[in-house]
Amino acid sequence: MTLRTRRSVHAGSWRKLGQSWNRIYRRPAQRASLEPALSPDFRLWLLAVSLAKAGGHAPFDNGELATMLPKFNRTTGEVGQYGSRALNKIIERLIDADMLAPSSSSRCLVVPMHKVDVHETERTLCPEHRHNLAWNGISWCEIDQRTGYVIPPPKRSANGNESLRHAA
Ligand SMILES: [Zn+2]
Repeated sequence: MTLRTRRSVHAGSWRKLGQSWNRIYRRPAQRASLEPALSPDFRLWLLAVSLAKAGGHAPFDNGELATMLPKFNRTTGEVGQYGSRALNKIIERLIDADMLAPSSSSRCLVVPMHKVDVHETERTLCPEHRHNLAWNGISWCEIDQRTGYVIPPPKRSANGNESLRHAA
């Protein structure tokens, strides 16, 4: 199979994927975040996915993220800690790649809802963002507590003004 053929096969299967999803087990994902052979950005993302709560928020206490994501020196085998600048750089890379919401920080990593469908029925508020809205890549969205689906924004009338129609 030539590279060209393989590419077109993949393009076809990507189209078919649509809105389907696979599930990831949270505990193994968290364990994998401690795997020295993996890159720090992938490890941090696995940690975020494994800990994500309502709306995709994974909040951390001060300094907690640095403790949970140790720095491995692959040459010496030494285990250390990332400084806040290094951690922020990893987070920024993931934000740039659209793998975390732009408001993510070492105090809360937000997994975007168009990347990961977080299964969390308890609607706890994120202590950092003070809400449990989900990030859809463009804006924050409210999610129905019962069904877990996004609540669509209120519909507007044809002239775009609901109150005028009611007043008439
Ligand atoms: Zn948050």
